[in-house]
Amino acid sequence: MQDVQRKIREEAKKLLAARSVDLIIGFEEASLPLRASPVFIHNEDDVEALVWNCFCENNLATYLTKVAGRKVAVVAKGCDSRSIVALIVEGQIKREEIIVIGIPCQGMVDRRKIEKEVQGEILEAGEKNDEVSVRGDDFEGVFKKEDYLYPSCRTCEYHSPVISDILIGEKIKENTELDEYAETIEYEKKSINERREYFGREMGKCIRCYACRQACPMCYCEECFVDNSYPKWIEKGLDLSDLAAWHIMRAYHQAGRCVDCGSCERACPMEVNLRFLTRKINKEVKDYFDFETGLDIKAPPPLTTFSPDDRQDFIHSGEESTGESRGD
Ligand code: SF4
Ligand code: SF4
Ligand code: SF4
Repeated sequence: MQDVQRKIREEAKKLLAARSVDLIIGFEEASLPLRASPVFIHNEDDVEALVWNCFCENNLATYLTKVAGRKVAVVAKGCDSRSIVALIVEGQIKREEIIVIGIPCQGMVDRRKIEKEVQGEILEAGEKNDEVSVRGDDFEGVFKKEDYLYPSCRTCEYHSPVISDILIGEKIKENTELDEYAETIEYEKKSINERREYFGREMGKCIRCYACRQACPMCYCEECFVDNSYPKWIEKGLDLSDLAAWHIMRAYHQAGRCVDCGSCERACPMEVNLRFLTRKINKEVKDYFDFETGLDIKAPPPLTTFSPDDRQDFIHSGEESTGESRGD
């Protein structure tokens, strides 16, 4: 990690000194333990602030649409790089304006899971090799990183950046053996009532703070449908029907666009399981269109194009609509 961090700083310094970029987007030490914060570095004298560790969880591609038009270098894990590709494909950023500092990523540590293991407030945390150590007023603890990875990192297939201009560290082989949709398949097996009950329980926790939307690189609309007053798509309250409308529409907006980085879920203060919906959509997109977001800079998202060979069996005649037929 120290080696990767040193190289990130070296590369950032070179890019800024040569005026190859206007700014670097990376991570800095956060004021709270078990965290790193996104940072924007404009000056080569400030590159020592850049850090790399197992707490660098944000998807930094989120910031690229906000600085479009400027030449930017961005530190990118596998999932961030896929979002960068998706944003380029959607015409939101230009490939020639972005320098990708790619970092093969071993996975980020789930701070909430560690916090739940200890009695009291964690005051200090550190990372050494495969372990995270924490310390509070009257306790200490050491945790094996691989046991505390975020759910999205446990099902991650593409740890290495899919595009990079500068690669720091050894590429990690794609994890194609993974049964990545095992949980989604279990969910699909439930009865419609069980699925409804689970959906209501999860979405019922939502307080509509929209942190999930803000954390997502693909939620870049200047005006979100939930903020629209004319036409008004949904009410502002916490009635389950409005929560359902918000979450279902959000998930559908992600069809063919979500890279399953998990940033939305990590941003949620209520610990709503947001990925169960987007992963269901991702699985459908993969099954129907053989498409995974952000792997190919030339491939248009499936809902913006068509092929005569596309499957048609989702078009119902209207005669059979039990809702049980395909896990809808
Ligand atoms: S989803 Fe993959 S690339 Fe992204 S942080 Fe987790 S392990 Fe790293
Ligand atoms: S971050 Fe969580 S609580 Fe906030 S709107 Fe999203 S799901 Fe709801
Ligand atoms: S919906 Fe969530 S998991 Fe998907 S790209 Fe956005 S932040 Fe990442």
